[in-house]
Amino acid sequence: MSEPAPISVSFEFFPPKTEEMEKTLWESITRLAPMTPEFVSVTYGAGGSTRERTHATVKRILAETSLTPAAHLTCVAATRGEVDEVIRSYWDAGVRHIVALRGDPLNGIGARYEPHPGGYVNAADLVAGIKRLAGFEVSVSAYPEKHPESPSVAEDIDMLKAKVDAGATRAMTQFFFENDCYFRYLERVRARGIGIPIVPGILPVQNFKQTRAFAERCGAGVPRWLAQRFEGLEEDVATRKLIAAAVAAEQVLGLVEQGVRQFHFYTMNRADLVYAICHLLGLRPATAREAA
Ligand code: FAD
Repeated sequence: MSEPAPISVSFEFFPPKTEEMEKTLWESITRLAPMTPEFVSVTYGAGGSTRERTHATVKRILAETSLTPAAHLTCVAATRGEVDEVIRSYWDAGVRHIVALRGDPLNGIGARYEPHPGGYVNAADLVAGIKRLAGFEVSVSAYPEKHPESPSVAEDIDMLKAKVDAGATRAMTQFFFENDCYFRYLERVRARGIGIPIVPGILPVQNFKQTRAFAERCGAGVPRWLAQRFEGLEEDVATRKLIAAAVAAEQVLGLVEQGVRQFHFYTMNRADLVYAICHLLGLRPATAREAA
């Protein structure tokens, strides 16, 4: 019997707003780097609001670490010319991987999305634009529980197909808590003839209240059992953290049991839980491995 493929991970960070947040981010990057992620991605704020900060963070990762950065990019509220300029500047800086997204409507999730006049109309159009400009690796989003704007899972998967046809070679999913829902989605994606890796996005629940609010906005389900596990722990940070580790451990080990080998972690710029889960997945810091 052949050996299973090695476990591979990627970490998502957001660009910091303050000096203190910058410090936390870099402590987290430094702590997680020895887990040798395939790449680390840096988000792009709603409506392009973090354009400079995303760029600065990605450039610092390139300059100061041996990690491979992936820059998120959206096409909300910008002309093609403006987006193309950002794409070219990433290429010139040495970035070779973009996570291409449409982005949320300018008036917030739930509002009607209007493409910018003269802008890329959706994520598939943006993927095609990036591929036309340079030889980037392009990753995109996927929604096991359907994107809130999408009329059906089938139409959602049509959009994923369009992104793949435009040149995307990996999708990272929105976070989810029921593994069955990921596997059902994966089955439908494969049945549609989409063969790229659909990497599960894992959100360790650092703060349950915040997670529930975020899940509501992005259409991710929060099962009753999850709420029950965090019940009564609002003021008990230490226990919450232990429960969060147990929940995430159960989820990733459940996925591994069914053959999943790639994971994308929403780190929220915090290292502890993600580091522990990576350890549980069998990953060891590069230096410890080399010394062994
Ligand atoms: P698409 O893949 O283009 O569309 C998603 C679904 O919505 C499709 O199924 C499509 O059918 C449906 N849809 C799209 N447009 C319409 C329409 N006009 N009418 C009806 N249905 C429609 N956001 C950021 O701002 N910055 C980030 O850095 C960022 N990173 C992300 C990373 C990941 C891994 C994920 C999963 C999401 C991320 N997002 C980010 C959120 C994302 O921008 C939003 O979910 C946005 O609403 C959709 O962008 P998309 O590229 O995922 O959409």
